[in-house]
Amino acid sequence: MKKIVLLLLVGIFCSFTTHTPKTIYIQPLGDVNQKYLTYVKNSVTDFYGYTCVIQPKVNLTKDILAASKTRYEASKILNKFKSNENLLLITEKDIAYRKSTSFTEWGIFGLGLRPGKTCVISTFRLKKGVTTQKMLVRLKKVALHEIGHNLGLIHCTHHKDCLMNDAKGTIQQVDREKIWFCSKCSKVIHK
Ligand SMILES: [Zn+2]
Ligand SMILES: [Zn+2]
Repeated sequence: MKKIVLLLLVGIFCSFTTHTPKTIYIQPLGDVNQKYLTYVKNSVTDFYGYTCVIQPKVNLTKDILAASKTRYEASKILNKFKSNENLLLITEKDIAYRKSTSFTEWGIFGLGLRPGKTCVISTFRLKKGVTTQKMLVRLKKVALHEIGHNLGLIHCTHHKDCLMNDAKGTIQQVDREKIWFCSKCSKVIHK
């Protein structure tokens, strides 16, 4: 009798892990073009198989401003909105990163907890001098990269084309990458 119950439990567990798609919430921070939201939603579903739910926007507030006051600080955003559900925050405003030991801040494309369930991306630095189509491809790469960090991936040094390379603030690296994880990064995600 005990054996049957155990098998049944194992069966239920398997069906949850293999057949139920994970959900990720997409949260606009301030006004975000609907086209960008829909594109990110479809990209994340295609690549990771997540079910994406777009949430109503929340406002950008002064408490998440960076020290320069001209942009928002990504770590403050993550601290404020940190969630137990998978959460991708997206803003059209510029976001910055600053090491706790330094006063210098610099603009970034995105930041994700590693491992964790929360990441933030910004369209601000992806738009310069390119068509909307090219900007959207950049946005997709940044979103998939930050979710990669949430899933435990560190920056990749194994293959130049891998999505998990450190962009080091340059858009050229983002443009160079493929929508692809190298064998080393794929192993971490699927282990
Ligand atoms: Zn990264
Ligand atoms: Zn890699």
